Amino acid sequence: MRAVRMTAPGVLELAEVPTPEAGPGEVLLRVGAVGACHSDLHILDAAAGMFPTPMTLGHEIAGTVEAAGPGVDGWSSGDRAAVYGIIGCGRCRACLRGEENRCRVTPVGGIGLSRDGGLAEYVVVPASRLLHVGDMDLTQAAPLTDAGLTPYHAVELARPRLRPGTTCVVIGIGGLGHMAVQILLATTAVRIVAVDTNVAALDLASRLGAHHVVQAGPDSVDKIRDLVGPPPDGADVVLDFVGAQPTLDTARQVVATGGQLLLVGLAGGTLPVRPVADEPPTVPLETGVVVPFWGTRAELQEVVALARDGRLHADVQTFPLAEAPEAYEALRRGDIHGRAVIVP
Ligand code: NAD
Ligand code: ZN
Ligand code: ZN
Repeated sequence: MRAVRMTAPGVLELAEVPTPEAGPGEVLLRVGAVGACHSDLHILDAAAGMFPTPMTLGHEIAGTVEAAGPGVDGWSSGDRAAVYGIIGCGRCRACLRGEENRCRVTPVGGIGLSRDGGLAEYVVVPASRLLHVGDMDLTQAAPLTDAGLTPYHAVELARPRLRPGTTCVVIGIGGLGHMAVQILLATTAVRIVAVDTNVAALDLASRLGAHHVVQAGPDSVDKIRDLVGPPPDGADVVLDFVGAQPTLDTARQVVATGGQLLLVGLAGGTLPVRPVADEPPTVPLETGVVVPFWGTRAELQEVVALARDGRLHADVQTFPLAEAPEAYEALRRGDIHGRAVIVP
């Protein structure tokens, strides 16, 4: 079969590889769609040894069951499924609570992270990772598994502060951010301020229903403060889907006293947190800082339910498998709006 593999750090190649076989408890899935996540660019950019090579990338997968391995119950050929990408140890205190995204043994274990992913014609996954999606378009189902799930989980973590009448600043309206805007609209009554450098991303945010849009630049903080109020007031919640130094610096200067910062993006910035009384604080008093990771299987089921009810829709640009490397280059240049989805 054909697969798009990271063969060495920074190198992504279309290759011919043997079609894998499902072992005990696993299924062979014919990949219907796989999202191109910005994290794949971080994986490609990571130092040698951080991720296995060669490895087929792709951790945002939906497909059709081709064959079930020995001992698999409840899944048979032709079933359509979304893939929950995390594979926790299943035994630690977090996994036992269903919080595999907090596994204490294999913290970033998963499909397309520590074993072959879905940028291929077929992928083998543990049957326990599959969720039924019925007749949903698979190019819609795939982005739910990360671009939908990760913001949903972040919103869950922030939910106690997302009361009616509060304000949430969403920074980075790309694959994750455009789903975040919809999730906030579907599950809260907050006022949404969408922030991005890219005008097309802001247009998408407006079309989706964001209440205010702000083009990021040197004056981001002033423009956002005009909308959310100056310190000690500010945004009750800031979701940063970029995580670069300018966005983290903006986030900490617009969050309200007692607010919450959720740092989802992995662009390499640092948030200074300095509890002192005799210098200007780096973050307001009582600020909560959370570094969310992906989400739980139960949350993915809720995300799928939102989509099936018509409340969550990925804005997708599709590419054939052979053009996956070009899709990632477009993502790196900022030329993808919503989510790039590869259809093998
Ligand atoms: P994306 O490329 O689709 O979207 C990023 C958006 O941020 C784009 O619209 C871009 O224009 C905007 N942007 C870039 N720099 C900006 C700046 N300085 N100010 C404002 N906006 C800016 O990326 P994505 O796939 O949505 O992923 C977003 C980030 O989240 C990535 O770093 C990714 O690795 C990370 N991620 C984290 C998790 C997790 O569990 N923590 C899960 C998935 C993705
Ligand atoms: Zn991802
Ligand atoms: Zn575990």
